[in-house]
Amino acid sequence: MIAKDKLNLFEVTQIQMDKATNFLSLKLSVRKFLEEPMRELHISIPVKMDDGEIRIFKGFRVQYNDARGPCKGGIRFHPYEDINTVRALAAWMTWKCALVDIPFGGAKGGIICNPKELSKNELEKLSRGYIDRIYDIIGPEKDIPAPDVYTNSQVMAWMMDEYSKLKGCNSPGVITGKPISLGGSQGRHDATARGGVFTVREAAKHLNIDLSSATVAIQGYGNAGSWMAILMKNLFGSKIIAISDSNGGIYCEKGLDPREVLKYKNQTGSVKGFSSAENINNEDLLKLKVDIICPAALENCITAENADKINARVIAELANGPTSPEADEVLFKKGIFVIPDFLCNAGGVIVSYFEWVQNLYGYPWEEKMVYERLDKRITHAFQEVLALSIKHKVNMRIAAYMIALTRVVKAMKLRGWIS
Ligand code: NAD
Repeated sequence: MIAKDKLNLFEVTQIQMDKATNFLSLKLSVRKFLEEPMRELHISIPVKMDDGEIRIFKGFRVQYNDARGPCKGGIRFHPYEDINTVRALAAWMTWKCALVDIPFGGAKGGIICNPKELSKNELEKLSRGYIDRIYDIIGPEKDIPAPDVYTNSQVMAWMMDEYSKLKGCNSPGVITGKPISLGGSQGRHDATARGGVFTVREAAKHLNIDLSSATVAIQGYGNAGSWMAILMKNLFGSKIIAISDSNGGIYCEKGLDPREVLKYKNQTGSVKGFSSAENINNEDLLKLKVDIICPAALENCITAENADKINARVIAELANGPTSPEADEVLFKKGIFVIPDFLCNAGGVIVSYFEWVQNLYGYPWEEKMVYERLDKRITHAFQEVLALSIKHKVNMRIAAYMIALTRVVKAMKLRGWIS
């Protein structure tokens, strides 16, 4: 039991996919094709550091499957980045784009580095160096990167500029998550959380949960988690009773003000110690009796070891890969409704797709239009997954995989890659 929870993230995706393919009549050769990335590039990037020394950084770009369109996926800068995590995230991007029916395949990239230890000048050189190395395999019609953990709109601006220089023309459509003044989209900043909030709204309708009196606990208070808290309170009046980050968490039965907590975190570096709240650790936060738990930090935080102790009615997976395959089974038996990651957090890539469309035809949309179209697309995807999960009596994750895999396989067949 424990051994399975120690699988690397890519092995987790393979187990999840296997569970879903059992419901689809796929040939063994097709399953094998889908179990591995189509292409991956391993690179070394030399950077002249501020002290004059040359340091070599290792990086990756994994293009998992492009049957449905150009690849799409973020770039992470992280000291513990590794190829299996990037492969897993590239696979999830493939299933995510197919599930919400946008015309992209899936990819992911990463550099092993600690951006907190780099100067701005070094960070810029590293960002440009990454693009120099992967230039040949990216482009608005090939593969479109985006920000992810520890990369932001400034990094995207440098990367887009580097690609444009090499190409010899301005090419905003090569990357999404750019600053608005360089072709970024309205509504991209909170798109992941907003999409997640729309899926929670649909889950609440299905489960008869009144969101205006619902209690919520959020693990992880970065971009995704903080916007989730703010939007759940602002749009529905839900009560945010617990919030955590990497240093620990806070709990207040009467409810926390998410914007005040964010202000406090920005000033002090953590939510811990926020006035009029008790401190709580991350493990205990997951065990709270609440209506909704939102993991918005790490992979593999709900495992066979703690799944049984979860008391929430809904788990909204804003983080990628928070739940291990064994935990999934425990939660399903307990009747806890899990909104799987590649549905719950698809808002980010949906608005990235909108950004790409706006760049290609050079006409920006208003924020209201972005939000309406995001709502329509993710709500439709949620309802499709829910209907299939009810029909086959499977959890939402398996149903989501069934839809995504069917769409990718169909595209591969139409292209004549498989028979
Ligand atoms: P972020 O770096 O802005 O925030 C991460 C937060 O998690 C920070 O508050 C950090 O303190 C906290 N954290 C780290 N370790 C923790 C721990 N052990 N316990 C509790 N909290 C911890 O990252 P983000 O962009 O908000 O992404 C969070 C998750 O959402 C990731 O899994 C990411 O892949 C996923 N996601 C994000 C987006 C997006 O658009 N931001 C899109 C899709 C998926």
